[in-house]
Amino acid sequence: MVKKMMNKNELYRKALQRYGADAQLAKLAEEASELSAAVIRNLLCQGDERAMAEEIADIEIMIEQHRQNGMGQLIDFFKQQKLERLNQLLKDGGI
Ligand SMILES: [Mg+2]
Repeated sequence: MVKKMMNKNELYRKALQRYGADAQLAKLAEEASELSAAVIRNLLCQGDERAMAEEIADIEIMIEQHRQNGMGQLIDFFKQQKLERLNQLLKDGGI
């Protein structure tokens, strides 16, 4: 029998309720560190793409939670600024 899974919004809301904002922030930092380590291992040929993809999935989940929990607009604001800067750099031929 297949159990019905909550949708993502409900999952994220319940995670915040159960663990609290500080724990979820700490988890974001933990997952960012794990992704960093996986990228370095991959670059040093001591890891694999699968492990890196798993850590990317973890960080995406934590970012989605923080978007839902009130940071979405601010993230989008900075993301747009950074995309415009990248666009300008690429147009100018800069680094
Ligand atoms: Mg992880």
